[in-house]
Amino acid sequence: MSVVERELSDLQGTGEPASGEAVPSNAAQKPFISVSEIEVVYGNGTVALKPLSLDLFDDAVTVLLGPSGAGKSTLLRSLNHLVVPSRGTVSVRGLGTLGNAQTLRAHRRGTGMIFQQHQLIGRLTALQNILIGRLGHYGTWRTMLPMPEGEKRWALECLDRVGLLEKALTRCDALSGGQQQRVGIARAIAQRPRIVLADEPVASLDPAASRRVLGLLRDICRQDRIPAVISLHQLEYARTFADRIIGLAEGRVVFDGPPAALTKGVLDRIYGPVSEIAD
Ligand code: ADP
Repeated sequence: MSVVERELSDLQGTGEPASGEAVPSNAAQKPFISVSEIEVVYGNGTVALKPLSLDLFDDAVTVLLGPSGAGKSTLLRSLNHLVVPSRGTVSVRGLGTLGNAQTLRAHRRGTGMIFQQHQLIGRLTALQNILIGRLGHYGTWRTMLPMPEGEKRWALECLDRVGLLEKALTRCDALSGGQQQRVGIARAIAQRPRIVLADEPVASLDPAASRRVLGLLRDICRQDRIPAVISLHQLEYARTFADRIIGLAEGRVVFDGPPAALTKGVLDRIYGPVSEIAD
């Protein structure tokens, strides 16, 4: 048994959060995030989002779908003010409207971000990358000290959930693109997030790795009842992995519904009249 496996087996019965079964959505619940009439105009005058409102609930994998330039990334990043809307508000359950630094910090601490380019440090191991992600939960002074054992065990458990326990001590630049993105997922869930935001997480992966990454992300978020918002431009993946699809075109929401409601007419609205992608 390796060191990491031994560490992980020690975890049994320690009361770390356990995975539950997927729970169906409850339409009567209060939204986790409420977006009200937000608009984004970049400094160069580009209107990336025209006024739009939407509610995001727990227990759902929501895909923001649309062609390049539709505003998916801008909307996703507006949800935790990585892009600050020019107008309108984003409100988070339990925190209120994002505005002051304290509310924003609390919201970001509870947000697991997953990026297209992983944003991992290549010369560090998978385990170290996850531990660095956890540092945001401590004060600055904590960064001078070794991480507590409990943190290491939790990081290893997260790596195990994405099937990469045996790569814990491997440098990230020696991992494949798909494995790196799985470390990205492990780093995000290690935050014990209240929501996961993933910005084109499979844009640079081959189809097999893309399916594995999206399947893992969906399954973990469903099991842990974490709402996930994922921006994607690939229709096929949205159909397979989303509970809800929000279709964007030219900065507007042109569709909001389940994958089964994506008719040819809807696709024409999202992508323009290019019927062949519907088949
Ligand atoms: P998507 O994620 O759907 O590809 P984006 O949200 O990245 O779309 O972009 C929406 C629009 O905003 C595009 O026209 C894009 O060129 C523009 N845009 C994105 N980021 C910036 C920026 N930082 N400055 C100026 N324009 C931007």
